[in-house]
Amino acid sequence: MNRKSIHVVGASLAGIRAAEALRRRGFSNRIVLIGDEPHLPYDRPPLSKQVLAGSWDADRIQLTKPEKLEDLDLDLRLGVRATGFDLDSRTLATSNGDEVVDGLLIATGARCRTLPGTEGMGGVHVLRDLDQAMALRAALDAEPERVVVVGAGFIGAEVAATCRERSVEVTMVEALNTPLARVLGDQVGEICAEIHRQHGVDLRTNVGVARVEADSEGRVANVVLTDGAEVAADVVVVGIGVVPNTEWLEGSGLTIDNGVLCDGTMLAGPGVTAAGDVARWPNHRFDEVMRVEHWDNAIEQGVHAAERLLTDEVDARPFTPVPWFWSDQYDRKIQLAGRIRPDDDVEVVTGTLEAHRFAALYGRKGKLVGVLGFNRPRHVMQYKTMIEDGISFADAIAAGV
Ligand code: FAD
Ligand code: NAP
Repeated sequence: MNRKSIHVVGASLAGIRAAEALRRRGFSNRIVLIGDEPHLPYDRPPLSKQVLAGSWDADRIQLTKPEKLEDLDLDLRLGVRATGFDLDSRTLATSNGDEVVDGLLIATGARCRTLPGTEGMGGVHVLRDLDQAMALRAALDAEPERVVVVGAGFIGAEVAATCRERSVEVTMVEALNTPLARVLGDQVGEICAEIHRQHGVDLRTNVGVARVEADSEGRVANVVLTDGAEVAADVVVVGIGVVPNTEWLEGSGLTIDNGVLCDGTMLAGPGVTAAGDVARWPNHRFDEVMRVEHWDNAIEQGVHAAERLLTDEVDARPFTPVPWFWSDQYDRKIQLAGRIRPDDDVEVVTGTLEAHRFAALYGRKGKLVGVLGFNRPRHVMQYKTMIEDGISFADAIAAGV
């Protein structure tokens, strides 16, 4: 498929990896990469880890070196926001004006949910981008008395761990039974709870935030919980999930439903694909329509969505990855590959849950569907390959890697 130009909206992980893939595939026409942040594309995982800890600065997290970026010969438009799109006329509206596009790749990611009633309150932070990370780092540099982390998902758990490494007192509040319960289930979530408590986090579970109170200068002072407890705080970090950035596509003619809905090949409409945190698609390997909010998926899907724009219908391949992620908390590397559910069969194949170092396999209908590791990177990657190969649960257990 010969396209006159390709516009990529969202100049972050999925967007830049897509642009690189287009050039690798020999696409030599114009590539326009549009991003609303002022920064060159950078990597987000270190924001809650090394950058927040103060051990890395922003220059360590660039996704593509300036000279490589030059070689890509992109029409790079930073600080420019896409504001609308019309599929019929193929008009892309941006803060710089309108233009007609040929191929369009949507990679606008997601943004943080905010806690109602805290808008504009001093000392209340969310963490998604570099500027927010630097603002939170500055708040930690000021040696706060106590940080309250709302939500014990990925952001909450990683920020709490980094705060404790910086010897900052932390209270973490989670509405569910355990940290990361939705992803890891209650049994493994309880292990995460133990690890945080062992590192001195005051973890409050099964409780929500009733309100956040400010002092007379509009700075956060107190977090009142739904059980009536009051926690004094000079910094609050809200990590209660994200929403996909799709507002600019309302009325575009594309299907927006908790993300940009694509077909199994990442096509969202004629000549339009999507990738990364913003994209939702049927992953036929797991018989599930999914939107994945993790690093590896943004890369693989960015590449796939780029190639899809250059491929004719008959040659289009479905995108059927085994999704995986890692999360670093203290000296633990937690990794999960595959899709797990609370009622899956579970078998620990190395280490023990009690030692907080193990690999566990998850089986469903006799098939291996997931592997979870705490400090077991080799095992996770080897069993991930077995999930890709469609191996049975029994054979995976017997394989003993
Ligand atoms: P994003 O990275 O969200 O990028 C989207 C870009 O589009 C942004 O620059 C945004 O400003 C821009 N944009 C949005 N709307 C518009 C518009 N209308 N016009 C122009 N530009 C627009 N994953 C892991 O697997 N392991 C980890 O350890 C891990 N750690 C993380 C730590 C943090 C602090 C965060 C925030 C995420 C972490 N992730 C991790 C998740 C991973 O970083 C994301 O899945 C990944 O960044 C998604 O990439 P993306 O390109 O789809 O979206
Ligand atoms: P998340 O992982 O979805 O976790 C949000 C947590 O907050 C959930 O446990 C959620 O519970 C809880 N919550 C929701 N509303 C709440 C409320 N009002 N009060 C208290 N708790 C509430 O989202 P996140 O931690 O904010 O992370 C943001 C994004 O960054 C995600 O896309 C995540 O994947 C990504 N990220 C990934 C990594 C990694 O992969 N290592 C690291 C950092 C960030 P419910 O489920 O009940 O809503």
